[in-house]
Formats: sequence, structure tokens, C-alpha cells
Amino acid sequence: MAPTDHDLDAVTRLDGVRARVNEAAKAGERAPDAVTLVAVSKTFDAHAIRPVLEAGQRVFGENRVQESAGKWPQLRAAFPDVELHLIGPLQSNKARQAVDLFDVVQTLDRPKIVRALGEAAAAAGKSLKVFAQVNTGDEAQKAGCALDGLADLLTLVGEQPALHLQGLMCIPPVDDEPSLHFALLSELAREHGLSGLSMGMSGDFETAIRLGATHVRVGSAIFGARSASQA
Ligand SMILES: *Cc1c(COP(=O)(O)O)cnc(C)c1O
Repeated sequence: MAPTDHDLDAVTRLDGVRARVNEAAKAGERAPDAVTLVAVSKTFDAHAIRPVLEAGQRVFGENRVQESAGKWPQLRAAFPDVELHLIGPLQSNKARQAVDLFDVVQTLDRPKIVRALGEAAAAAGKSLKVFAQVNTGDEAQKAGCALDGLADLLTLVGEQPALHLQGLMCIPPVDDEPSLHFALLSELAREHGLSGLSMGMSGDFETAIRLGATHVRVGSAIFGARSASQA
């Protein structure tokens, strides 16, 4: 019987995703290193993540501060050149902990969190790379800065010397055609003179690369399906 995707291990799936990233970059006439693969390891424990580290993957994404605190300090001790991205919502009372754990925070979406993170990074003497998350679908319950608040938010980020703005990030509404959101995010980045574009997940990262993604966040296509309650 031919193996289904489910039977493959994470390292095999990682190889497949890397090949597809390179293919999509080539098709878009982008340099192969123009796209960073962020392996999203949320809900998977250190035991599941370690083989992917051993296979050479160094950039990872997590969506919860608390969960990351339970597994990444030990993994980092073994793999010091890891780059960890926070891709989930941040509460200002966790800013200090986020600064200790993460190298990049992709989810700046309101003034309060920009100030809290900027002050925490400065206090820790750390410089932190950040993305502003944009609510491109204008969804009421969704994280992300509203389109009409983006310019002011970016100005505030610029006033925090410890924060280094890389670009914009979005999570399209589940039922929408993602390419519309990727094109919009790309246009907004161009307007604001930003080069970083974090967009595209397991189901649509090739489309995102075609539309200029510099960072794709890929979870289940590498680690396998997550249980629904933890998605
Ligand atoms: C979980 C998650 C991903 C990865 O999703 P997959 O569909 O498993 O690739 C990407 N971005 C964010 C913000 C996430 O929370």
C-alpha cells in the first residue's frame, strides 16, 4: 500500500515542504533564500520537535507564550541558533516573558502591546524583530490591526528603539480566497516601505510565495494534524 501523508514522519514531510517552497520561489523568480520557512510546532512537544531540529530546521513558530516556556528553553540549550517566532496573540502582562522566549513577534496589533513589548525589550537590553498583524478581512472577532489604524500603529513601533519592524503579517478569513488577502498585504507593505511579508500556511503557502511572501508559517504539513481542540 502506498504511504498516505499521515504515515510519513515529520522529517520526511519537512523535506517535501522545503522542496515545494523552493519550487514556488523558483516559479516566482525569487531567490531560494528569499522565503523563510517557519515551522509551526504549536501543540507538539519537545519530543516531536527534536527530529525536525536535527534535520536542520532552525526557524519555528509558536502561538502561546506559556506552552513555549514549557519546551523551548531546553530545546534552545541543545540548538542555540534557533529563531523562535511568536505567531499568536500576546497579552501585555506576558510581554516580559515573550521577550525572554522569542526572537521575533509577528502579532503586534494594538498600541498597548507595542508599548509593553518595546518597554520590556528595552529593559531586557534585547532587540526584537517584529511584524504588525493586519486584519485584512476586517473580521470583528479576529486579531490584527484594522486597515485604518495601521499607519498610526507603524509610527508607534518606530518610536520603540528596541523593536525592529520587519514587515506585515496576516491570517486570511477561513472561507475567503486567500490570494486576495495576500495581494492586499503585499500592497500595504509596499505603501509603507516594508519588505517582510508573513503570509501563507499549510494549505496556501505556494500561493503566498507567488504573491511575495518572505515568511510562510507551516504547521500541519510538517508535523501532521493537530487535535481539533488545540488548533
Ligand atoms: C497554526 C498556525 C499556522 C499553521 O497552520 P497550518 O495550517 O497547520 O500550517 C500558521 N499561522 C498561524 C498564525 C497559526 O496559528
